[in-house]
Amino acid sequence: MSRYRLLPSSAQEAVLRDHCAHARYVWNLAVEQHSHWHPGRTSAPGYLEQCRQLTRARAEHEWLREGSQMVQQQALRDFAQAMAAFFDPENPAGRPSWRKAGRDEGFRVVAVKPSEVRRLSRHVGEVWVPKVGWVRFRWSRTVPSGVKSYRATMDRAGRWHIAFAVIPEPIPAPGNGEVVGVDRGVAVSAALSTGDLLCVPGLTARERKRLLRMERKLARAKKGSNRRGRMRLVVARLKARETDRRKDWAEKASTDLARRFDIVSVENLDVTSMTRSARGSAGAPGRNVRQKSGLNREIMRSGWGLLVRRLEDKAPGRVEKINPAFTSQRCSACGHVDAKSRESQARFVCTACDFACNADVNAARNIAAGHAVTARGGDGVTRPVNREPQLLLQSA
Ligand SMILES: [Zn+2]
Repeated sequence: MSRYRLLPSSAQEAVLRDHCAHARYVWNLAVEQHSHWHPGRTSAPGYLEQCRQLTRARAEHEWLREGSQMVQQQALRDFAQAMAAFFDPENPAGRPSWRKAGRDEGFRVVAVKPSEVRRLSRHVGEVWVPKVGWVRFRWSRTVPSGVKSYRATMDRAGRWHIAFAVIPEPIPAPGNGEVVGVDRGVAVSAALSTGDLLCVPGLTARERKRLLRMERKLARAKKGSNRRGRMRLVVARLKARETDRRKDWAEKASTDLARRFDIVSVENLDVTSMTRSARGSAGAPGRNVRQKSGLNREIMRSGWGLLVRRLEDKAPGRVEKINPAFTSQRCSACGHVDAKSRESQARFVCTACDFACNADVNAARNIAAGHAVTARGGDGVTRPVNREPQLLLQSA
């Protein structure tokens, strides 16, 4: 996901702000309709019904009618996708909530034609925005070809950004018959059955120190002060940098895997259930909440969900999901299953045959072999996931 600084003129900015207001209005209407719904009632209106309602609302309200229908309709589609993501067990997204003026300023434009994004000079490009016209943006890095949609946003500091979304082209299989297993480690971000260990580049030690210092200062700064606003911006920027690096890593790693191997095996590890279950409820508090939340942060940080989604986009039909049971306890050399073989987080030493290996690589080899044996035996291979590439929902 590439984000660029958008540079509207002040006249253009006024129309952009209107787009944001319309998108927010429509989104919040949808949130309200769905907030009334609870089990037992007739269902809240779906996307198509909402579109009909939007048409009626536009007929009644001039200020809506003057705005872009595409922007408003797209807000409904975004909402529908956010609801779908909320119900998708593999996606750790929360329930779509109210959008606030000043905080959630943005809108999406779809069906972008190739001629609607162009480069003017080395550092400047422009993009066609409905009802606004050509708006310039800073060409700070290569704009990917095949832009299908974009999202324009304004942050709290009043700066505009544009993020172009492309659906990654499927990468042809190399045809070498090779299978790779990928284990989602915690010590490293991913271990391959080939022995490679991949790490998500997060913040550097210096950046992390700075982030910690700033967060502490932020906690002490007086509410509503200028100083607090500045601190918050610095903290937000550092966190955004971390997210960017994680996304970048997921793109590169998924491309690399799709190019090198015919089949990519991953654990069918339900990230959502792991991340959601820890806290438990008031009546039945979860166990080991603190340990789990540490692990959860790590899972989120390591960008797992994103890596697998990108793999499915780039290698449709070539991603295999394996039941992860016992992959970390089973010896990839002799098949012996013993919890004691996992000497430590990082090291696996088989209690039967003395085979020694990096623990995550051992697990990756089991995943590659599709031998996620259950205690009763038999393997846990599930069918390859064959999903059409989907429009990317971005959180820019
Ligand atoms: Zn062994």
